Amino acid sequence: MSEPIQPPADLLDRLVSLGKQRGFFFQSSEIYGGINALYDFGPLGTRIRRNIRSRWWRSIVELRDDVEGIESSIIMNPQVWVASGHVAGFSDPLVDCTGSCRKRWREDHLAAERIARGKHPDAPGCPECGGPLTGARQFNLMFRTFLGPVEDSSAQVYLRPETAQGMFVDFRSVLTSSRQRIPFGIAQNGKSFRNEISPGNSIFRMREFEMMELEFFCKPGTDEEWYDHWRSARFSWYTEELGIRRERLRLRDHDHEELSHYAKAATDVEYLFPFGWGELEGIANRTDFDLSAHQKASGADLSYLDPVTGERYVPYVIEPSVGVDRIMLIVLLDAYDEEMVRGEKRVVLRMHPDVAPVQVAVLPLSKKEELCVRARDLEHRLRPHFATEYDETQSIGRRYRRQDEIGTPLAVTVDFESLQDDAVTIRERDGMTQVRVPISGLEEALRDQLALFRQRTAARACGAAPAGP
Ligand code: ATP
Repeated sequence: MSEPIQPPADLLDRLVSLGKQRGFFFQSSEIYGGINALYDFGPLGTRIRRNIRSRWWRSIVELRDDVEGIESSIIMNPQVWVASGHVAGFSDPLVDCTGSCRKRWREDHLAAERIARGKHPDAPGCPECGGPLTGARQFNLMFRTFLGPVEDSSAQVYLRPETAQGMFVDFRSVLTSSRQRIPFGIAQNGKSFRNEISPGNSIFRMREFEMMELEFFCKPGTDEEWYDHWRSARFSWYTEELGIRRERLRLRDHDHEELSHYAKAATDVEYLFPFGWGELEGIANRTDFDLSAHQKASGADLSYLDPVTGERYVPYVIEPSVGVDRIMLIVLLDAYDEEMVRGEKRVVLRMHPDVAPVQVAVLPLSKKEELCVRARDLEHRLRPHFATEYDETQSIGRRYRRQDEIGTPLAVTVDFESLQDDAVTIRERDGMTQVRVPISGLEEALRDQLALFRQRTAARACGAAPAGP
């Protein structure tokens, strides 16, 4: 396979500005000057996120017999976080700059922060100003609040920093209510909160984010096989289901020093971001650490009795864990392209047609009443079958450009001839080619064209086709 070409360093900035302009994502509470590491998602960003979530849910839960979905609460009994080890150990090493910039850093990120600023990874002092740094102290990342009206330590609770503990704590109740047998998994997605020391790179590292996690319970001794299964299944999901370029993805196994205390093995699916390789998803063999810890702390029996062999054991767990926001970021980064068309720059998001916020745009050629009525009617008819959008503002050229910028694969144009011949033009995003089709066969033609897009995206993901059209 050819060496991956690192995306240009300023790609993230270009994407952030497109994201704001087109309403993918932007700073939360912007009218008050924003708030650090918290983001809102606009109408198009929300559509992309729903598509990502539903593709994950479909592949992890709906298409399998052996995974159940749940939704557990964000605030849990604080004992959960004591037993899981988060109260004592969910912390990062914090160092302070005592020089001119006074920034705070994660000690284990200092080298990467220096590289990002064009410095040597071992350069002394603060990555920003070179000033002296304090020694490291552990900083717990969990947000705290109070449950009920009395603000004392007995009422202190935490906002969950991961969704996984909900699956462990609910293990027994799902097992008895769902008629599943080991091996089986429990999955959920939802918001998580971490008071990150050095958030950044836009939506890559935030303080409120959304996770999609699976805890897959299996018999000890079969755990390595299941770990291998999820390791490769999750890697290929990105190319096959999202059309992400394989050359920008890799699996990186953790060596012994990097492994968390509870893990027997762990690997990261990494993506080549404009700022270098970074974690996209983590897959870990968590052994029986969590269930045993909760069994001990709660007194509840979390073991499993095999009805066939009569064996009793505490199951091992394989966990693939990923953030919706990080997937959204790589979907956009991977799709972003610029090219010159007739002397003008065209920005185009070559996105997978099932992730794109709009699949079919319906555009009247001009604002003439009869064209608008016809186009609007057509868009209403297509709406139950595709993710559609109707747009009658601006010139047709500008509207095509806007659709290219938001990744819409197909645009249907209603022109004056359409009123006579009952036919419309379909324009496709990547090569900008156009075909005329009768309205009676429009739905089928659009389906066929979207299928072609899926094939082309898959070929590009595997490196079988050039990045462009
Ligand atoms: P790090 O060491 O980089 O802080 P981690 O290895 O502790 O992170 P995990 O607990 O493995 O992170 O998180 C699982 C996944 O959740 C990550 O792969 C990422 O997709 C997502 N994620 C974690 N933290 C954040 C965050 N602060 N913002 C956005 N997504 C996050």
